[in-house]
Amino acid sequence: MNYSLTRFMIVLWGFVLQGPAWPTQKTLTPADNKVVDGTLVCLDKDLKEVACSAKNEIYGLKAADGQLYPLKAHENVEALHVEKRLRTRNFRLTLRQEPDSRLYALVKSQFFRDGRLYDFHYFCEVCNITTHAPGLCMCCREETEYRESPAN
Ligand SMILES: [Zn+2]
Repeated sequence: MNYSLTRFMIVLWGFVLQGPAWPTQKTLTPADNKVVDGTLVCLDKDLKEVACSAKNEIYGLKAADGQLYPLKAHENVEALHVEKRLRTRNFRLTLRQEPDSRLYALVKSQFFRDGRLYDFHYFCEVCNITTHAPGLCMCCREETEYRESPAN
């Protein structure tokens, strides 16, 4: 093995052991998540609370202390508003603030009904796939089944 190849191997091995030496983006961990209990509200373009209407595209979670957490648009956020089977506007959402933004991405959603916390999801029996927004299965295009269960 010649010198340069040996050197290359050492550098490569170092890379494997330590990862890239150059600065990488801060890795987000579960500790960066924020769990907030609140009510789902509708927001206008300025992220102010407004009465919900057909035009609303931005949703927010309003915590008991009045703080608003505007939610980044996603089908899983939309589901909180359109899914009538939830029969509640009260949620426990796990959120993560988007970099350089006032918006929060939805990581996990649970809801409160009659003082009890529930998990919910949509399930395709055929493909054994779980999603968090209503609609057709992404795999077989069959209708998915709504399921809820008391949270542990
Ligand atoms: Zn399917």
